[in-house]
Amino acid sequence: METIDPSILPPQQETEEDRVLNLSLRPGSLSDFVGQPDTLENLRVAIQAAQARAEPLEHLLFSGPPGLGKTTLAHIIAHETGAKVTATSGPAIERAGDLIGILTNLDAGDILFIDEIHRLSKVVEEFLYPAMENFQIDFVIDKGPYAKTIKFSLKRFTLIGATTRSGLLSAPLRGRFGMLFHLDFYAPEELVQIMTRSAKILSAALEPDAALEIARRARGTPRIANRLLRRVRDYAQVKSDGRMTKKTAIQALEAQRIDPLGLDEIDRKVLRTILEIYRGGPVGIDALAATVNEEVDTITDVIEPYLLKAGLLKRTSRGREVTRAVYDHLKWAGEKKPGQLFPELT
Ligand code: ADP
Repeated sequence: METIDPSILPPQQETEEDRVLNLSLRPGSLSDFVGQPDTLENLRVAIQAAQARAEPLEHLLFSGPPGLGKTTLAHIIAHETGAKVTATSGPAIERAGDLIGILTNLDAGDILFIDEIHRLSKVVEEFLYPAMENFQIDFVIDKGPYAKTIKFSLKRFTLIGATTRSGLLSAPLRGRFGMLFHLDFYAPEELVQIMTRSAKILSAALEPDAALEIARRARGTPRIANRLLRRVRDYAQVKSDGRMTKKTAIQALEAQRIDPLGLDEIDRKVLRTILEIYRGGPVGIDALAATVNEEVDTITDVIEPYLLKAGLLKRTSRGREVTRAVYDHLKWAGEKKPGQLFPELT
């Protein structure tokens, strides 16, 4: 992997600082969780019904862009049901043997959380089917003519899967989940509530109009809102009296090169590349990724969802295209040589 200057990382990619702080800012119960009202209501009903029957919850899947609360909800469900969580991720389970170890260690009612579940290998995924369906796994021991299949019974656990790409989940895997929830981007008012709670935990003074200014630029994502909040807090501490006002918020966000739509350098680079190099598109995702020097997955999972939601990008059968709004946002300057269109943004 190529090393890149961390200062140009898009704010939605998690750093070590994020990881530690996110843990402390993570809501611990359903009542602390802001937004996603339909999902919360359905979860409350499912939890209550399962508890009344003294049964474990059915397997459930959360999908949606990174930073919207999938992992948080998995931990909240564990907390609300008094269950123990074992957390892992699709790429971490390399062989079926890794999964056997995890599954056989689960107790009745435990939660197995698999993040990025769409990245499980085919072999591991197929191994998971009987475990999810009948709480049973089949081991094959010995080889050749002596090979024997042994069935092993598991305790009744609940699998919670999280994915940024539900479209990549195979139909058999998707079909084995009893509940599917799609998390959507948050409204600025919801992000304000989330940041107000975070500011309290961090003992930071956040004025309401500063919170709204940050929320508008947080790409509808709680993780980004909390990260920008910390950047504004640093800025306010160093450059003024520590109070986060609207003025310090705007200055801090501008210093981070976060524009009024919440786009950062990499978002603008993607849009500008489509405009300048591909004349507005359509351009295939592989060509685009190669030109901006990013992984295809980073573009599709992390960068693109908000650009689509904000109406700046369109996905057509022929590839990605920018919309009219981009021309205005990037101050489209007519026909100029590639690379000279937006000198003020480079
Ligand atoms: P995902 O698993 O979807 O990538 P996380 O659950 O890790 O996202 O959420 C990232 C951070 O955002 C959490 O640590 C938490 O601080 C915050 N967060 C996410 N959703 C909410 C919410 N609805 N209310 C409050 N904080 C939230």
